[in-house]
Amino acid sequence: MRKPIAIGNWKMHKTVKESIRLVTELKNRLSGKQEVEVVVAPTSVALETVRIALQDVQIGVAAQNVHWEESGAFTGEVSAAMLADIGCTYVIIGHSERRQQWHETDAQVQLKFKAAIEQDLVPIVCIGETWQQRQDNETEKVIDKQLNEILVAGNIFHGSDFLIAYEPIWAIGTGNNATPEQAQKVHEHIREYLARMFRGDVAEQVRIVYGGSVTAKNSAELWRMPDVDGLLVGTASLEAESFSKIVLNQGER
Ligand code: PEP
Repeated sequence: MRKPIAIGNWKMHKTVKESIRLVTELKNRLSGKQEVEVVVAPTSVALETVRIALQDVQIGVAAQNVHWEESGAFTGEVSAAMLADIGCTYVIIGHSERRQQWHETDAQVQLKFKAAIEQDLVPIVCIGETWQQRQDNETEKVIDKQLNEILVAGNIFHGSDFLIAYEPIWAIGTGNNATPEQAQKVHEHIREYLARMFRGDVAEQVRIVYGGSVTAKNSAELWRMPDVDGLLVGTASLEAESFSKIVLNQGER
């Protein structure tokens, strides 16, 4: 049985004080009512403070990025060992904003995956197509290529825990979410891919989450899809009211 999960990606928002305010309100609104695993991804500056503020509740923390080297002359970067050291448990890798703005490649995402699992961090691997690729009927081809290059090419999968985040690029921060049916179709394809490349039980265990303009309003329908095991939420995770509604909507499933 895959435990549903809601992940809030705060991107480059919230000072430390604002982060604390947000998680305090979130804790109050959820107050143990959630049937779903909840994870927030603050900036690296706020990560440890938020983790400490959440230690008495069932809300985890994720980093938004990681470097694949353990240490060295990599100005501005943070290693998996450093994240593990402050009690971080998840890390988002391959987000389309990093791919587009910092030209991150699947080969680099593969290295990040490996670095994360070596430190027992759970990678949340983001994949997804552009609008043009969807129009050209290339969604599945693009997804397969990304998964091949991240998971298969480096032979790095050894039964470790990881999540796949299907985040169509055209849906991120645009207000145009994929319909529940569109998300379900791609998630089903990803699960079939995992069964083919690994084993059936791996495909059954790996959580596949959807991200792209999820709101309190559209989340109930997305939660209802059988292969949507969770939601990765950007904008709507910046307010406790909307994020807690998304989390609590899962109960409607
Ligand atoms: C994201 O950044 O991963 C995301 C899904 O953002 P938004 O919810 O704002 O589309």
